Amino acid sequence: MGVQVNLPSLDFLNGIRKSNRQFAVIGLGRFGRGVCQTLHTLGYEVLGTDIDEKRVAQITADRIVSHAFELDSTDPAALRQAGIFEFETVIVAIGNYLQESIITTLNLKEAGVANVVAKASTEIHGKLLCRVGADRVVYPEFEAGCVLARSLTKPSILDRFELDPDHSIVEVVIPQEFHGRTIAELELRNRYGLNLLAVSCDKKFEINPSPHLRLQKDCLMVVIGCNKDINRLPIQ
Ligand code: ATP
Repeated sequence: MGVQVNLPSLDFLNGIRKSNRQFAVIGLGRFGRGVCQTLHTLGYEVLGTDIDEKRVAQITADRIVSHAFELDSTDPAALRQAGIFEFETVIVAIGNYLQESIITTLNLKEAGVANVVAKASTEIHGKLLCRVGADRVVYPEFEAGCVLARSLTKPSILDRFELDPDHSIVEVVIPQEFHGRTIAELELRNRYGLNLLAVSCDKKFEINPSPHLRLQKDCLMVVIGCNKDINRLPIQ
């Protein structure tokens, strides 16, 4: 339910311990809206805020947040009044206003917010965010470019979860070369250094599949391993 409330009426929010199923997003540009929409779709409660009343009205009308407030996040009193300091995770989605982004992050950390994720538009912006205490800095444009490059060079990888810079869990389309062969025959662990976690056909995943399962091309498999080894998988 999207509601817009006057700040003074929000005092009751102070002191309410928010569970980690709740997130606050400051800045409702394309990135901030994307964060709100995805969290909302995943079933989390999201509080969206922006200094721009039109953006607050728009996200309220679109019903992709639980609550939306208009506030200036450089003002600690406004953040406190809105109950933002009670959230465990706050996303600072202000990329283009350096000063506002830094001050907002500083306000949140000084007030003891445990997990502040901040969007940076440049490397120096990112460094400043780290200096004022951001727990995680993201560079969405740069990261989107990396994902695109990977998808262009390795089209069979549908999804990737990076464990660290060298290791990932990936969801890949089963290549033609693996069609009709069993997991045991393929010797994925010996030949590719990869562990198969799941196989799916028709959107149903079989976790820890039997080594005697025959793989079908165009179905999906989820493997864990070193990026170098993942890149050696045949392209579909
Ligand atoms: P993108 O779409 O890439 O996220 P954008 O241009 O829409 O970029 P930014 O310029 O980074 O977004 O700003 C994000 C939002 O942050 C804007 O909607 C802006 O109104 C809001 N914003 C800027 N300053 C403040 C502030 N002091 N308090 C709250 N919100 C702010």
